[in-house]
Amino acid sequence: MTAVAPSSSFDVLVIGSGASGLAAAVSAHRAGARVAVAAKGSLQSCNSAKAQGGIQAAFAPDDSPEQHAADVWKSSHETADRRLVDVLTSEAPSAIQWLEELGVEFTKALRDAVEASDIATFPRSPLSALEQIAGGWRVRCGEHELEAAAVVLAAGGRCWREAQERGELSTNHPGATGEVTEIALGLGAEARDLDALQYHPNGGAWPPNLQGYSIPETTRAYGATLLNAAGEEFTDPLGPRDAVSAAIFEEVDAGRGVETPDGRPAVYLDTTRIPERDADVSLPYMLRRYRAAGIDPLREPILTYPVLHYQNGGLVIDTDAQTTLEGLYACGEIAGGAHGRNRMMGNSLLECCVFGRRAGRAAAEKAKG
Ligand SMILES: Cc1cc2nc3c(=O)[nH]c(=O)nc-3n(C[C@H](O)[C@H](O)[C@H](O)COP(=O)(O)OP(=O)(O)OC[C@H]3O[C@@H](n4cnc5c(N)ncnc54)[C@H](O)[C@@H]3O)c2cc1C
Repeated sequence: MTAVAPSSSFDVLVIGSGASGLAAAVSAHRAGARVAVAAKGSLQSCNSAKAQGGIQAAFAPDDSPEQHAADVWKSSHETADRRLVDVLTSEAPSAIQWLEELGVEFTKALRDAVEASDIATFPRSPLSALEQIAGGWRVRCGEHELEAAAVVLAAGGRCWREAQERGELSTNHPGATGEVTEIALGLGAEARDLDALQYHPNGGAWPPNLQGYSIPETTRAYGATLLNAAGEEFTDPLGPRDAVSAAIFEEVDAGRGVETPDGRPAVYLDTTRIPERDADVSLPYMLRRYRAAGIDPLREPILTYPVLHYQNGGLVIDTDAQTTLEGLYACGEIAGGAHGRNRMMGNSLLECCVFGRRAGRAAAEKAKG
């Protein structure tokens, strides 16, 4: 890591230190570029660091990138950009091999790779202005004025801010506020599906310190069911995210939900149906958190309600992750198209990796002229 004086110039400047930004930075650096990464807070604070590690790729003999692509297309309700979906799913196995080669503990492995290199880092340097200049970009990040031949926007989504504005809960990190998207839109970059926000069907609704916690969806795979106030099952617990969320909203709107002690809407997630052995092996973190708060999910149902989780749409990119503005790239949650209007679970970290690498490589190429 290199300490840098203000007013520095780089080949590639990456905005954001989540999985997509780190993947872009490592990739651009490996392609020979002089790279810098700027982040709003510390390098560790991002949604990627909260991710539960689910990542999709077709490795099994009875699976294939084509099947993965078909699943994404269906999950997006046939709204995804098919060129991006093909890239996403065909590069998934090699992206995961790349992570393994870096010794993945996901963002930590990527961060270690950045920190072991001469990539310059600017933590606590929020991007506030972006201007196209001859041969590249001038960028204001906190107190620093930086110049770069190519800029990669990897600043994540806006679900935390959106939840604050709606008076709802979110799984997201407080840095997920979306101002970088607005700056890019102000410059004329195109976006798609920005209105399509994804709810995680099972946000924690009670106790207060678990409000907004993303209850692992494996709970439902292991047998947990959704019950209304009368203890009746009202939806297929294995349905897709948007269908399960919609069913919970409808049940509550119809007056068949329950209320948390602080007056929030909820339904029951009956986790008592999960076999203890499965829970011990696969859900230890969840068990620990609830039990520490005095609730044992294997003895009593827990309260849940959908919470804002993911920005499905974002800046329009091509298969090299270039936005509609030359020399300006976008990857990760800030970019749109790979998931259409509804992301399939586990495909975000994959997208960060596949398009982060592509963005880094293409930005480094661009900088070479
Ligand atoms: C609780 C939780 C669990 C999840 N689990 C999974 C999972 O298991 N599998 C999966 O595929 N996906 C999962 N996701 C989704 C996935 O983690 C995120 O969509 C993904 O990590 C986003 O990565 P990113 O690099 O695009 O953005 P982030 O990781 O959010 O990083 C954004 C970066 O941009 C920076 N930034 C923001 N604004 C500015 C600014 N103005 N100036 C400078 N920097 C800025 C931030 O500081 C941060 O460094 C989960 C999400 C959450 C919240």
